[in-house]
Amino acid sequence: MPKIYFTPGPSQLYPTVRQHLAEALQLDMMSISHREPAYNAMAEHTVAGLRMLLKIPADYEIFFLSSGTEAMERVIENTVQHTSFHFVDGDFSLRWQETSRDLHKQAVMYKVDHGQVFDYSQAHIPAEAELICLTHNETSSGVMLDLPEVYALKARHPEKLIALDVVSSAPYVDIDFAQLDVVFFSVQKGFGLPAGLCVLIVSPATLAKSEQIKNEVIQTYHSFTSLKQYSAKYQTPETPNVLDIFLLGKVCDDMLHKGLARIRQETEQKWAAIDQVVSNSAALNHFVSDPRYRSKTTIILTVQDGSKSLIRALADQNLIVGAGYKQFKDQQIRIANFPAHSPADFALLAQQLHVLTSA
Ligand SMILES: *Cc1c(COP(=O)(O)O)cnc(C)c1O
Repeated sequence: MPKIYFTPGPSQLYPTVRQHLAEALQLDMMSISHREPAYNAMAEHTVAGLRMLLKIPADYEIFFLSSGTEAMERVIENTVQHTSFHFVDGDFSLRWQETSRDLHKQAVMYKVDHGQVFDYSQAHIPAEAELICLTHNETSSGVMLDLPEVYALKARHPEKLIALDVVSSAPYVDIDFAQLDVVFFSVQKGFGLPAGLCVLIVSPATLAKSEQIKNEVIQTYHSFTSLKQYSAKYQTPETPNVLDIFLLGKVCDDMLHKGLARIRQETEQKWAAIDQVVSNSAALNHFVSDPRYRSKTTIILTVQDGSKSLIRALADQNLIVGAGYKQFKDQQIRIANFPAHSPADFALLAQQLHVLTSA
């Protein structure tokens, strides 16, 4: 049996990727120029697929970057002159705050411990904050935010831009773009693709802000102005990850064909299969104590007596799960629940988890 990767990124490839890779080779996708019509048509198809799949409004721009980490940096560079505000509930949200600080901004934060949830009334967002940053699914802690609570922030601070990292929750997360200004994800998680491509979606207000501050801050080749000039022609300022853009378009087609409603429903069923094992096991516990905020796409479990031997025993069955993040490495397992994982994959994992933890 081949290995199944339940690791939270990179992860299991979407099942159709092999066949799309063969087609990419046949079409010379990795050799054609990124300035020629064949490339433009391919990129246009990918952008149209993303718009349809994720219901991205026509007046929001779609840009290609190289990673989620790059997106954090570009968003700060392009929208913040002095002050950003960050909701920090783990390592990825903290990385964003640190990026802003490293760019010499006032990076104000409201921080809670790993596994804890925000009390929005405790966030003291300064009047001068230009951008509010949130991480929809904190992959290091397994906390998934409630979108209505995020939208309520926008309603309370209509003059500020709101940016949401959905790296490990897209395409499961069902976003109302009209209530957000910036959304981004990289493709090696929920889209089941090779790493090295990030999709950044920005509102008209975000572009206007970028334009407005461009003479006061440093913005380089991935300034939103430059990205927009090129994206109007379905191009990028640099030579992009052409293969990944091609594969993303193909996987969007596959997901449109299957239907996101079904993908979301399967995600919840797969989650429930693991949840049931947890409720029947004395050795496993959800790390996030508040059930309303337990991630559906990154399941984090604390393992009594440590996670090392469980991770090894599952690997012996070709079931590759993630260790805990950083300081939780040896106490937790992390299970990615992405569209590439079939219900049958999860049935197998649930069965083995049950066998290994009920003894
Ligand atoms: C993985 C991850 C990132 C980093 O993305 P890269 O593409 O590896 O730079 C950012 N945010 C979250 C929530 C992630 O899970």
